[in-house]
Amino acid sequence: MSEQDNVIVVGAGLSGLATALGLAVRGRSVTVFEAGELLGGAAAYSGGQIWCGGNHVAVRQGIEGDTLELAERYVRAIAHSHPEVLDEQAMRRWLEVSPDAVRYWEDVGAIRWTVIPGLADYHNEADGALPEGRYLTNEPIDAAELGEWRDKLRVSPYFPVGTTYAEMFVKGRRLTNVDEEGAGEQAGVQAFGLPTRPGGEAAVPDRLTFGTGVVASFLARALREPGIELRLEHRVTELLTDDGAVVGVRAESPAGPVEARGPVVLATSTYDWDPELVQELVGLGPEDFGSVAPRTIRGDGIRLARAVGGAVAHLPATAIPMLPGWPADTGVGYAYGPDYAMPHSMIVDRLGNRYCDDSYWVDIVEKTMDPADRHLPFFLVFDEQHHQKYGLGATPPGGEYPAGLVTSAPTLRELADALGIDGDQLTATAAAFSENARKGLDPDFGRGTVDYVRRFAGDPANEPNAVLGPVEQPPFHGLRLRFVGTAIGTSGVRIDGDGRVLDEAGGRITGLYAVGSCAALTTVGTGYNSGIALGRGLTLAYLVSNELAGTPVD
Ligand SMILES: Cc1cc2nc3c(=O)[nH]c(=O)nc-3n(C[C@H](O)[C@H](O)[C@H](O)COP(=O)(O)OP(=O)(O)OC[C@H]3O[C@@H](n4cnc5c(N)ncnc54)[C@H](O)[C@@H]3O)c2cc1C
Repeated sequence: MSEQDNVIVVGAGLSGLATALGLAVRGRSVTVFEAGELLGGAAAYSGGQIWCGGNHVAVRQGIEGDTLELAERYVRAIAHSHPEVLDEQAMRRWLEVSPDAVRYWEDVGAIRWTVIPGLADYHNEADGALPEGRYLTNEPIDAAELGEWRDKLRVSPYFPVGTTYAEMFVKGRRLTNVDEEGAGEQAGVQAFGLPTRPGGEAAVPDRLTFGTGVVASFLARALREPGIELRLEHRVTELLTDDGAVVGVRAESPAGPVEARGPVVLATSTYDWDPELVQELVGLGPEDFGSVAPRTIRGDGIRLARAVGGAVAHLPATAIPMLPGWPADTGVGYAYGPDYAMPHSMIVDRLGNRYCDDSYWVDIVEKTMDPADRHLPFFLVFDEQHHQKYGLGATPPGGEYPAGLVTSAPTLRELADALGIDGDQLTATAAAFSENARKGLDPDFGRGTVDYVRRFAGDPANEPNAVLGPVEQPPFHGLRLRFVGTAIGTSGVRIDGDGRVLDEAGGRITGLYAVGSCAALTTVGTGYNSGIALGRGLTLAYLVSNELAGTPVD
């Protein structure tokens, strides 16, 4: 096979592995360069939710009623705030192709899909929303299928890998990892009871679920293709060009620089760990931003594309899927919810006011980041009931919070003073919130009205609402929040609906493609629903691998 037959994929997360697989089964040879010592990227850390309108899996499981037309109505309804950043062509291409892509990956043996039970679309009030059927994930896979590659897979420190969604929903996400004595943990690698590998990553358990399981499924299948070469610890640092076309890459490896030739598919994910790009694309400094994505995700795809004339699409920061979180010793150095969505907690600004549905990240980001009315810094305030019932991050219920993270005080006024919040207003806000929360209501901001949040993040045992409880029992606790990125940057490399990288004038850069979250989410504009990142990534992988294999999708 000549060098020109070889395709180079940059990044071995889900989109990169899927692209390589799609190419290999069509007879192309592929070299996958992965910067990290482990593969799987943010996808392996994720919840493994893949959103797909009109998919065959729901029909197989007896969930009827979805159509492409309904899915398109939903996407349009949720993308209403900035329709100008929605790329119509890319949106339609994605919606129409994604059910075929989802079916294709199953047909080719990359995954066995199942519907996540009872999980509603985020915006349950929007036109076209459905209460179930559009979120897919993998049937659990046995890690033994990975053979010697088992030790090279990332394991999520943020989800109870090994547990299924159905099992998790019984206790609620927050309490799924608390053992019988109540001394388990929730967010930390070690606390999942798994021994760690060098570098602090958890060892790979036998039964793989959530994002770790989805990646493992694709990896297991890719390993059966002799045409795929996986090179770990190879960070691509430069694109090679010839007369304006991309013809290869240069990478840094432990053995020194290497070069490889062929068309290039960028699958490097977002810019979470590049403070300059975070400032440029999100508008936040390090005091307000962290990330729960692997640290090898640092904007390389954006910089590589820019260096050869690729355009970057900027989408409003009010639409970025970021989560309220805090620095932590576990995971990659940050932890995040669902603590903020548990009962007996609320989010306030420095004035002591609530200002959003503080159980729902979509509303939290939109309101906190509103350029006309920013609410930074923002704080999580909770009471002793929250402490005793749920703990926080890696702290089990009733456990001692890590030194320096949480401020505690006997009254809300003293807590406010210590955190730099207006004490009178905080006291008044908590009183009003608590009175309504006892009734399971939040007339001001609608906390508790989003089905997805109640099911995915709340406490199923809490009555009358899984995310609402009074903040009234001393001592009171609080911490300053920051946003943590989830490798869904929203802004990114500009592509067309088929994953071809575009320049500022809208023309193609020959030989260069981008799949997954390094590509701007112009597909959905400012409307996001969980699972779109991975779902679009798999659709682009399907489209790009077909095009490069000479069988473009009609
Ligand atoms: C905790 C968490 C939960 C999430 N839950 C969901 C969910 O349920 N559903 C959903 O749709 N999304 C979810 N996301 C987001 C989703 O995981 C990411 O958007 C997605 O993984 C992006 O996929 P990708 O294939 O583009 O890149 P990734 O899976 O992130 O992989 C990118 C890879 O590229 C490598 N790389 C980077 N630069 C280079 C370079 N220069 N050379 C070589 N390799 C490079 C990285 O090391 C990495 O392995 C979640 C994210 C997190 C962190």
